[in-house]
Amino acid sequence: MQRKLERSRAHFRKAAKRLPLGVASNFRYWGDEDTFYIARAEGGRLTDIDGNGYIDYRLGYGPTILGYCDPRVDAAAQEGMRIGSVFALSTERELSVAERIAKMVPAAEMVRFSCSGTEAVMAALRVARAYSGKDGYVVAEGGYHGVFDAALWTTDMEGWAGEGDPDLVPYSGGVPRMLRSLVWQVPLNDADRLEDLFKRQGDKIGAMLIEPIQGNCCAISADPDYVRAVRELCTKHGVVLIVDEVKTGFRVARGGAQEIYGIQADLCTFAKAMGNGYPISAVAGRRDIMSIIGRGVVHGGTYTAHAVSLAAAEKTLEILDETDALETIAGYGERLREGLSGVLKQRSIPHCFVGHPALSGLFFSETPPAGYRDWKASDYLFYDTLAPLLVDRGVLIEPDSREPWFICEAHARDKAAGDCLDETVTAFAAAV
Ligand code: PLP
Repeated sequence: MQRKLERSRAHFRKAAKRLPLGVASNFRYWGDEDTFYIARAEGGRLTDIDGNGYIDYRLGYGPTILGYCDPRVDAAAQEGMRIGSVFALSTERELSVAERIAKMVPAAEMVRFSCSGTEAVMAALRVARAYSGKDGYVVAEGGYHGVFDAALWTTDMEGWAGEGDPDLVPYSGGVPRMLRSLVWQVPLNDADRLEDLFKRQGDKIGAMLIEPIQGNCCAISADPDYVRAVRELCTKHGVVLIVDEVKTGFRVARGGAQEIYGIQADLCTFAKAMGNGYPISAVAGRRDIMSIIGRGVVHGGTYTAHAVSLAAAEKTLEILDETDALETIAGYGERLREGLSGVLKQRSIPHCFVGHPALSGLFFSETPPAGYRDWKASDYLFYDTLAPLLVDRGVLIEPDSREPWFICEAHARDKAAGDCLDETVTAFAAAV
């Protein structure tokens, strides 16, 4: 253990008396001794309350695309602050941000804003159900779509013999079991199984939710043929295809995973990178589907299109669209992959990188995983052992290998702040 965590530990003991697990989100609890608290962030780095510095590859689980405290985005947010924050009325800026999204993402013919990825996916699911007239929905295994009840189901691998539809278990206490009859999960990259499901249950299934690059499962990437087949099967069976781009949107390409795969969703969801950390999300999609919002379908919320977040999103999207930021970020990601790969090759450790350089999964096998089941069967314990050693050396990754490494434009932009990527490779070699 190289880090000092005295202050964080003392704070945890106090915080745990008032905040469940001492934190504001379950995922921020790293254990009674290892939960730590952040003092501040800048560029691609964080400092905790004990003064430990970290190069950050979690980046808030993805939102920080340009870097923390980006002066361009923060200035825009301050301008948003000056005009007020919430009015329960709309502003002109909503249209300008929606126009930008439509320019970047061809499927986004119409747009509605909300505050978190969860809210955007909830809205997409509601709209899809209303449009299709069917309440059931399918999720690709390994996908994560937020913290609402309909999304908190997972395949019961142990209890499944490999035949028929896998059983699903709620991922959280409090998820009503009566929702079980509405949700199906299918293994990623198995179009035959999906077709079979649609043939059997197509009259009940109104929506399919998919992350073509699984931002919450090692960045496992769907096969392009599979994604095209999903698109066709959804059209054929009257199922609304929702591409969840909460992690991939405005990160892997201007037009997100849809651009990379050359498909158009019926509905798609965005959050995270869209506001460089300011809370904002969007559901977007086909005009005929989105048009039912307001015609019997409810969408709203006190804080939707909040002036500060919207101004931040306007500036973030402008930068991502009009500069080479995304190419720069992908280039950094490539460089980091090469550096880490060099270290692992030297030690003959089989590995591969999956996903996209801006959102990389590191997998300890030469064959890229085809889905969640491959991850489950892989040697992820090696990753789990490596992760704390890296964190101890000031490279902050998630201890769970399913969370990819995120890259931001600030990781190597500011030479005075040091090149995070080179430092990471050195720390990685020591940790390995
Ligand atoms: N969808 C995907 C693909 C996500 O990765 C996440 C969060 O990580 C969500 C939805 C939920 O977003 P939020 O945490 O902003 O509610």
